[in-house]
Amino acid sequence: MKRNLSQTSVQYVKGVGPQRKKTFLRLGIDTVEDLFYLFPRRYEDRRKMTPLSKVEIGKWQTVTGEILSNSGRKSWHTKKHVYEIEVGDKSLRIFCVWFNRPYLDRYFKVGQRVVLYGKVDIYKDRLQLVSPDYEIISDDEEDKSLSIGRIVPIYPLTRGMTQRYVRKTVKRALDKYSSETKELLSYNLRRRYKLDNLIKSFLNIHFPESDKAQEVAYRRVSFEEFFLFQISVLLRRLSIVRKKGTAHRISEKFCSSFLDLFPFSLTGSQQNVIEEIKKDLSCAYPMHRLLQGDVGSGKTLVAFFGALAAASNGYQAAIMVPTEILARQHFEVLEKLLKKSNFKNKKIKLFINTTDKKEREKTINEIKQGKIDILVGTHALIQDGINFKNLSFVVIDEQHKFGVRQRALLSAKGMNPDVLVMTATPIPRTLCLTLYGDLDVSTISELPSGRGQVTTQAFKPEEEALAYKAVRAIVERGEQAYIVYPVIDESEKLELKSAQKMFKRFQLKEFKDFKVGLIHGQMKKNQAQDVMQKFKNREIDILVATTVLEVGVDVPNATAMLIEHAERFGLLQLHQLRGRIGRGAKHSHCFLITEPTTQEGVARIEAILSTTDGFEIAQKDLMIRGPGEFFGRHQHGLNELKIANPQIQLDILEDARKEAIALTEEDPSLQNKANAAIKEAILNRYPAYLANILSG
Ligand code: ADP
Ligand code: MG
Repeated sequence: MKRNLSQTSVQYVKGVGPQRKKTFLRLGIDTVEDLFYLFPRRYEDRRKMTPLSKVEIGKWQTVTGEILSNSGRKSWHTKKHVYEIEVGDKSLRIFCVWFNRPYLDRYFKVGQRVVLYGKVDIYKDRLQLVSPDYEIISDDEEDKSLSIGRIVPIYPLTRGMTQRYVRKTVKRALDKYSSETKELLSYNLRRRYKLDNLIKSFLNIHFPESDKAQEVAYRRVSFEEFFLFQISVLLRRLSIVRKKGTAHRISEKFCSSFLDLFPFSLTGSQQNVIEEIKKDLSCAYPMHRLLQGDVGSGKTLVAFFGALAAASNGYQAAIMVPTEILARQHFEVLEKLLKKSNFKNKKIKLFINTTDKKEREKTINEIKQGKIDILVGTHALIQDGINFKNLSFVVIDEQHKFGVRQRALLSAKGMNPDVLVMTATPIPRTLCLTLYGDLDVSTISELPSGRGQVTTQAFKPEEEALAYKAVRAIVERGEQAYIVYPVIDESEKLELKSAQKMFKRFQLKEFKDFKVGLIHGQMKKNQAQDVMQKFKNREIDILVATTVLEVGVDVPNATAMLIEHAERFGLLQLHQLRGRIGRGAKHSHCFLITEPTTQEGVARIEAILSTTDGFEIAQKDLMIRGPGEFFGRHQHGLNELKIANPQIQLDILEDARKEAIALTEEDPSLQNKANAAIKEAILNRYPAYLANILSG
């Protein structure tokens, strides 16, 4: 009988005590299996080290040598702590500096051997590495054999852990347990796709014999992960189709009351999407639909349609969004809409992580008793202990900010509710089916008419005064502006302007005759909400902010946005930020202060200057970054994939999907004995939303 490695604690590995176990937990590693799946963030080829005399200036390289001297001091100039070591081999010397890492004072000792990885520069006529990755090579034979003379894995670390230690622990775990891994891919399947067995693959992922071997191993482990993932997606799809949900009755009268809520008429796209949703809601099978639409295309209204339909049928609806600002905004908009309408008797409520315990208890009770019809909130909605009386419609807004699990947790609070997930990040068609194989897709392809144009313009850092002047001109005519920074305060990144610092400066200097506000993610909740309210009421003219603005915020009188250090933001992020303006009829202006230094940075800025169309932006982003970086994993709820990466391994994903389809067609409940191990593995990995499917 083989041990279950997903239930064998890392503590069984030699050298891991209770303390270390805690540290491993911070990396998300609990079991031996987790350790096997700890994917190195990169590898260093230390088979042949470059002598210092042969290093190439301007390139990232690995070098090694002996520490000849070390010193730490405080720079009188910048007040930063500066730590320096001098490292030499037989051929030459190199200097390494780190800033603000006082703990290094006690770390290195003269005479030790170190391996360093960084970009080699020339500074004051000497070779230099700034803040390189470093590793001390001890005299211990086990350490040495794992750390030099081979392709060496470099793992993600957490405080209190060294490469050396992780490497040793992984090696010991592999030695002791790798023979007990369960092979899930049949021999035939492996042969068809030229995949190694699992044991060999794990060995080559951690301690590759060659680059090629690592590649093959990576393919193999990824294939298996995709395979399980796709089976889970397909099973979910099957189970939804088989389930019984709520058939809502949607009358003409309801529809006209709904349209009466708005002072405008719906766009053609909105009408089409609502038609699709109407059909889904009316039928007895649960809806499972993804709504894509660019920033500002009016998705919220579609969500409200469903929520009100549920409420009008005597059921409950829940709308989940990623930030409290957005939750509050949706809530307020909805409250205002309903006030004097035919829906005024519908009870709506905001639910966020409020501190007030009593209020919370009360709301939880009302939810349970069905006294609340529509609940709007954040992640707070999916906590244990929140139970609905009869939830029949669920919305997940800005769904790329949530994971599959969170999506599932909210749905699980209802009786197979109709589910609408919404996103402003368009997804190329090929990827869509594979990643969202369990969802139907609707698209809003146009913006409401009457929107003012948005012009985007870039300034260099030394031209900041011009940009501030442009903002001033707009605020002087009674419109409002956002000024966005990548960081909150200067301690985060020294060389950057920060929201905090600039807020103070603007109040005293550039914008002292205006009302300037500040908002960021680390503010107290009620404080942030107060600031947002003031901005909406025009009691604040200029709002200095971080990316908390990125999602959803809707203040049509804000017609200017200045983004400093714009090269620091991702392209989609810039697009989302810019989506905060151009919401009214007036012409809006986006100003970027930026000096991109990388090729990608230049391309991103060019792209954002060239178009405001979200689908085009997404396409450009895909080209600039390559599929590899386009999607953050969490965006697709692929948290459960530990090694496989759908973006760069699309071909493998497609193969795995094909095999998963074949398998689930043949054995939809995974009852065959031959599939028992697969079933167990899937239940292990995707327990939250598959247990009930497979046990039934
Ligand atoms: P998003 O798709 O980014 O979530 P919202 O739903 O927040 O966009 O809508 C943005 C703004 O457009 C809101 O102020 C909303 O009232 C307005 N809006 C939505 N649909 C229309 C429409 N058909 N005509 C005019 N304005 C609309
Ligand atoms: Mg929205």
